[in-house]
Amino acid sequence: EFGEVSLKDIDNVAKSSFPLCMRHLFDKLREDHHLKHWGRMQLGLFLKVLLNSIGLFMEFIWNISKLPHPLTLAFTCYLSNPLMQQPMELGVGLKLDDALAFWKAEFSQKVGAERFDKEYAYSIRHNYGKEGKRVDYTPYSCQKIISLTPSVGDHHGCPYRHFSEENLRAALCKMGVNSGGVEDVMDKVRHKHYQLACTLTFEAIHGCPNDAGINHPNQYFSDSQKILK
Ligand code: SF4
Repeated sequence: EFGEVSLKDIDNVAKSSFPLCMRHLFDKLREDHHLKHWGRMQLGLFLKVLLNSIGLFMEFIWNISKLPHPLTLAFTCYLSNPLMQQPMELGVGLKLDDALAFWKAEFSQKVGAERFDKEYAYSIRHNYGKEGKRVDYTPYSCQKIISLTPSVGDHHGCPYRHFSEENLRAALCKMGVNSGGVEDVMDKVRHKHYQLACTLTFEAIHGCPNDAGINHPNQYFSDSQKILK
């Protein structure tokens, strides 16, 4: 079914359809068997199973109720919110049990299975709304990820904004962007057009245009899957 990914497919879809921000976190998790809090949040929510449309609608109402002029802003908010535009195509679609198995397989190599169960499993169930306030948390948008401020040793954030030029060039080559494409991407980065840089990367890798432009990592993923499936 579209939108659902099982554990055995995760490495393949990471390679073919994850945007650079998630590919970097995924690779670092596989390499270090650990990610710090914000990295776990950014990747974990991206990987999460689909939100249902009722949950999204309730969240939408809640969001606009906090705005000063909800009625005048509602329409703009609706149009600009990628979650509302693609209500059934969000997340990568890893179910809670698979998500727990995925994170445990990595973290237990670093901290042991017992410590994973005690210290980390709670936050994964929390992301799925099974603990604490039982809120079904929404995956982060590009805007939010770009605005984060990773410290040394953190791997979250947007590579187009937060990587050094050298590291970004190397990452783009690893993703399969050719040298002309890399220069086009670097030009957008120099002008601080990070989402356009990501859109150019998508187009270079998939060999076709993405007219809507990238504004959400899960939109990148679903657009990619539509082309590849
Ligand atoms: Fe991720 Fe968005 Fe940055 Fe692309 S532009 S790498 S999807 S945060």
